[in-house]
Amino acid sequence: MRLILFGPPGAGKGTQADKISGNYVAAHISTGDMLRSAVKNGTELGTLAKSFMDKGELVPDDVIIGIIKDRIKEEDAKKGFMLDGFPRTIAQAEALNDMLSSENESIDIVVSIEVNDQEIVGRILERAKIEGREDDTEDVVKNRLSVYRNQTEPLKAYYQSSGVLAEVDGMGTIDEVFERIKTVLSRVEQ
Ligand code: AMP
Repeated sequence: MRLILFGPPGAGKGTQADKISGNYVAAHISTGDMLRSAVKNGTELGTLAKSFMDKGELVPDDVIIGIIKDRIKEEDAKKGFMLDGFPRTIAQAEALNDMLSSENESIDIVVSIEVNDQEIVGRILERAKIEGREDDTEDVVKNRLSVYRNQTEPLKAYYQSSGVLAEVDGMGTIDEVFERIKTVLSRVEQ
């Protein structure tokens, strides 16, 4: 299965991604995790990415697209994958579409976790306390949310028009949300 896990920052994508990858065969590809590890290792990519991440801005499309292009060619991803945090712009979605269609492949489902803004800011600030993520301060969180609404949310219409969008209510417990995700995934052949 090739799936995209979609939703605003703080919607619980990371938590649900772990549960999905434990239950369904899929390589878990998180661009946020890949960038954070590049930052930690002090690579050239990390230095570039950090300047955007610290402000809550998106890393340029060509950089992210290059990373994904290499990653989905790896052996584990050939059997299927879950993208978490990618695509985030229409240009990224179109590039992904080109990469897959050149191999006669396509995205099976886009699971969009729906959570309201008030809940998001609260959840992220809570996470900041626990994990100490540098991009979780209130101003940066608000910027990430507005970047999401302006640049990323339009992707829902993009995937809706190709018939693969599945919206899931992200309010409730982790298990309640996961049950809803399982229901929509059961409609897709594995
Ligand atoms: P995340 O952990 O997915 O919230 O990502 C953390 C940060 O990494 C984002 O705020 C962006 O600065 C950057 N990032 C992650 N994925 C992407 C992407 N697909 N496009 C651009 N920037 C990204």
